[in-house]
Amino acid sequence: MEKIQNKLKAYQGKDYDLILKRSYEEAKKDPSFNELVNSLKIKDEIGVRYTSKLEDSVKELKNCQGCKSLMECKNKITGYIYYPKLVEDRLEFNYVACKYQEAKMQNETKGVLYYEMPHLIKQARMKDIDPTDKTRLEIIKWLKKFYDNYPKIQKGLYLHGSFGSGKTYLIAALLNELAIKGSKVVIVYFPDFLMGLKNFDDAYVDRINELKKSELLLLDDMGAQPISEWSRDEVLGSIVQYRMDNSLPTFFTSNYNLEELEAKLSVSKGKEEKIASRRIIERIKQLTDQLEMISVNRRK
Ligand code: ADP
Ligand code: MG
Repeated sequence: MEKIQNKLKAYQGKDYDLILKRSYEEAKKDPSFNELVNSLKIKDEIGVRYTSKLEDSVKELKNCQGCKSLMECKNKITGYIYYPKLVEDRLEFNYVACKYQEAKMQNETKGVLYYEMPHLIKQARMKDIDPTDKTRLEIIKWLKKFYDNYPKIQKGLYLHGSFGSGKTYLIAALLNELAIKGSKVVIVYFPDFLMGLKNFDDAYVDRINELKKSELLLLDDMGAQPISEWSRDEVLGSIVQYRMDNSLPTFFTSNYNLEELEAKLSVSKGKEEKIASRRIIERIKQLTDQLEMISVNRRK
């Protein structure tokens, strides 16, 4: 009896594979389907598992042909295309901004200067923040309050917590929105900004001034790289001092809380070092509220 059942299962499995294969081959008769699969170098043995999702992508791509503006978008989410990406031996489908949506977003955030920031961060908006995430409720409330009350509020935020939890995304969402309302914003991946400054050029004073004087500033990923004495005192120190003296809202993200950051900023263990590092931490404390982000890693 068992033998017969096993045989039946094997037979059904074969049948199922055959049905999948047939529907994939049928779909490939559409030149647009074929073109998508070929352009992404998707092998048949992978593509065959995603026929209907690929068909959804093809349908959306066809909608885009000859389209002239977001107003006439026929896709499921206006301005976005359901699009596959080959990741090892599987396909991941995401909503990717079309050229009109891309242009719209770039235009909206033309008041933001980004240094070395990933593309997704430029797209961050408050409406994309998941409000049901209980672990971030306090942070989301804080951001909303800032958004509603700025420029009456001047205190920024020091947001620390685990890698990939969405710290940069959340603050960028707030600052991008404020830029849409007309504020001037600078968002800097701070470790790379400092690295760039090492290649001394005449523009370096201008670059530091840009950070000092920006209406709103995010220094992203504090403490991610060892810092030199010069970077700490002449660059970071002078930026936070200036912003404190002029009540300019300043935001920071870090994997470290302020105590841990203080240790990171003491380049050596000497007494002078500790005082210099403490001075910066004190300024950051005056510039910000501090919140911790406990959440799952959102990086894929
Ligand atoms: P962290 O700064 O804490 O290391 P990120 O802000 O870089 O984390 O977020 C990690 C990844 O998750 C990024 O790719 C980011 O774009 C994505 N992400 C974070 N929060 C959201 C969100 N609310 N909606 C969509 N993507 C998000
Ligand atoms: Mg980050």
